[in-house]
Amino acid sequence: MHLLLVPRPGLPVRCAYCHDDLGEGRACPSCATRLHDECWLLAGPCPTLGCRRRLRILVERVGASVWHLAWWLAVFIAVWSTLVGVIPSFETMFQETGFLLPEATETLMGASRVARSPIGIWAAVLVTIASIAVFRRWRSSPTLRRALVGLTISSLAFFPFAALALFLPTVQICTKL
Ligand SMILES: [Zn+2]
Ligand SMILES: [Zn+2]
Repeated sequence: MHLLLVPRPGLPVRCAYCHDDLGEGRACPSCATRLHDECWLLAGPCPTLGCRRRLRILVERVGASVWHLAWWLAVFIAVWSTLVGVIPSFETMFQETGFLLPEATETLMGASRVARSPIGIWAAVLVTIASIAVFRRWRSSPTLRRALVGLTISSLAFFPFAALALFLPTVQICTKL
């Protein structure tokens, strides 16, 4: 059997993965099927039947920007200042009531005591300096970008945790009053 493929003139080229209009796209080196860059990332191997070629996409090789560093440091400093500046006043309040605190609250109070100790202050300074130094040295590395994004997002989880840990005993106090 002999197959002849003739391109249809005039029709916009469509991505073989999402079927949306395709500008340049990127072609499979084996069968010339074209996909968006993002669609290659989603598709993994070539979606054409019989062709399982994988395309290495360069999109992933983007390093970290100053914004990645700035966001991470902002969130880190926010967490640390909450531990040092906000939590102690709650601790005093809870101690005055003498109630048994939930485990989450005890954990938060413990973290606050560590953050306020000399070791905690040194650690915070060290993390800040090390973050800047690592950024300056490896900013073109995609791994560093992923690490900074991961650190920022996971550190943000501190705030709902802290809110809950402070909310639980407050409810306890209000109901006992
Ligand atoms: Zn697509
Ligand atoms: Zn292919």
